[in-house]
Amino acid sequence: MLSALATAAGEPLKLTEREVPEPGQGEVLVKITACGICYTDLDVLQGHWPIARFPVVPGHEITGVVTATGPGVSWPQAGTAVGAQFLGDSCRHCEYCARGDQILCRDKRITGIVMDGGYAEYAVLKADFVTPLPGGLDPVAAAPLMCAGLTAFNSLRQAGITATSRVAVIGAGGVGALAVRYAVAMGARVAVIGRSDRGEAAARELGAERFIATRDTDPAEALRAWDGGANLILNAAPSTSAAAATLTGLAPDGMLVLCGYGPEPLTLPTQPMALNRLHAMINPSGSPHDLRDTLAFSVAHGILPEVTPVGLRDANVVLDAMAGGHAGKRSVITFG
Ligand SMILES: [Zn+2]
Ligand SMILES: [Zn+2]
Repeated sequence: MLSALATAAGEPLKLTEREVPEPGQGEVLVKITACGICYTDLDVLQGHWPIARFPVVPGHEITGVVTATGPGVSWPQAGTAVGAQFLGDSCRHCEYCARGDQILCRDKRITGIVMDGGYAEYAVLKADFVTPLPGGLDPVAAAPLMCAGLTAFNSLRQAGITATSRVAVIGAGGVGALAVRYAVAMGARVAVIGRSDRGEAAARELGAERFIATRDTDPAEALRAWDGGANLILNAAPSTSAAAATLTGLAPDGMLVLCGYGPEPLTLPTQPMALNRLHAMINPSGSPHDLRDTLAFSVAHGILPEVTPVGLRDANVVLDAMAGGHAGKRSVITFG
């Protein structure tokens, strides 16, 4: 099978022919249909993940079909269409695993970082950590739902979104666009924060009632003028400081959630936080049950990202474009 290997930090992907792996105890072999290219993949290749095991096949936005099962697997059977995500395995017995919060397990294992992922024609995955794809879901367009969609959906949910929430989303590109659509579909009111008003028409098309251009306006002030502030601010921009600058735009008891952040630490003013009981959170993707809910909600509300299908041989070019900050729509590797 053709696969792309991350061999060391700072090295481009290396295309190699390898034997199709055999599923072991509790594992399934999945013939991959599509794998989205996530910014975390770029982070791994750039050496920002000290836990990364090199060589490793990157990729954790996987859709495919089970073709073989290892010993002890009663589900999923061969022929089942499944998705696989960032969380690839966990200890299965700690208090977090026991309550279905496997993403919080201290011994969790990450697909495409310490276990081989989806930049290959086949992958061996843990049967308990794949998720059935709902019928009618396009497996190519749906690939980014396994990480970008899950992270956006679950961040809103973990932050306690309700139908009366005012939600501000910073950066309405990939993850941000999905967050806007999920928040609107959950009944919330949504504002989008962008750099210039170039993104305004697109934000309104997604369902935002307000657009705030930070070039012209202080975003925190503009949010306070929005019926007293946002209950939830979701940062989808790759900048920690852009998120911190909006904190005082939260309504009392409001929460700042970072889906995007840069290498710089998060610095927040403590007095406004104390006076108004403000919260800040980074939500790491989600557990298997969160992905089931993300997919079911996406199908029910017709929410799918716009993607550009690419070949495995194009992955280095796409990753270079992402590193240079000029990637367009989410690229998804497809296998014919
Ligand atoms: Zn555990
Ligand atoms: Zn990801």
